[in-house]
Amino acid sequence: MRTPLIAGNWKMNKTLVEARELTAALRENIDGLSGVDVLLCPPATLLFPMAKAIAGSAIMLGAQNVHEASHGAFTGEVSASMLKDAGCSHVIVGHSERRQIFGEDSALLARKVRTVVNGGMTVIYCIGETLEEWEAGRTADVVERQMNEVINRDVDWHNLVIAYEPIWAIGTGKTATPAQAGEVHARIRALLSTTYSSDAGNSVRILYGGSVKPGNAEELMRQPDIDGGLVGGACLEAESFAAIIAAAASVGAVCN
Ligand code: PEP
Repeated sequence: MRTPLIAGNWKMNKTLVEARELTAALRENIDGLSGVDVLLCPPATLLFPMAKAIAGSAIMLGAQNVHEASHGAFTGEVSASMLKDAGCSHVIVGHSERRQIFGEDSALLARKVRTVVNGGMTVIYCIGETLEEWEAGRTADVVERQMNEVINRDVDWHNLVIAYEPIWAIGTGKTATPAQAGEVHARIRALLSTTYSSDAGNSVRILYGGSVKPGNAEELMRQPDIDGGLVGGACLEAESFAAIIAAAASVGAVCN
């Protein structure tokens, strides 16, 4: 059984005051909801105060990035043990903005994924094709390559979440139709079964990301292989994020 997971990627947004307001309002808005896991991924400066802000709730804390080394002379970077120390249970790795703006390649992402998992946290590994690749019908090849280059049996699948995020849908207001996204998710699931086992294929959560909004969340979550969402823009307001969480809760867990 896979419980849906709704993760909010705040990216480089929110001051401390704004973050506290958002989190307090979110807690009020989702009070009493069950059947869905909720994760907040604020910027690194807000991890400690947000750990405090979610204390006593079921909301989990995640980071948006990690350095692959355990410690040392890496000015400006943050290690897995520091993130764990701050209260993180999850770390996003391979977001398209890290790949495209910061030039992170598969070799580096593979090291980061292992650092997170070996550090006792769950990795949310992001994959997805560009508009050009989508239009050329290369989605399946791209997604398969991004999986094979980074995910193999030395990554414990119990600590793995995959986020399929078509790059052309991120922050653009465009979304893959639920059927299109569902088809890619089914492929990813099949790949997980081949790499690990059918148990892994049935258990690993695969999130969809790319302009998830209150208006499209329920239809996306109804797809059998979509187990939640990685949400950017719509997680920056309590009402819209809570509405997406409620949509996922109403669809509920997927049984195999
Ligand atoms: C994202 O950045 O991962 C994302 C999905 O953003 P948005 O929801 O704004 O498209």
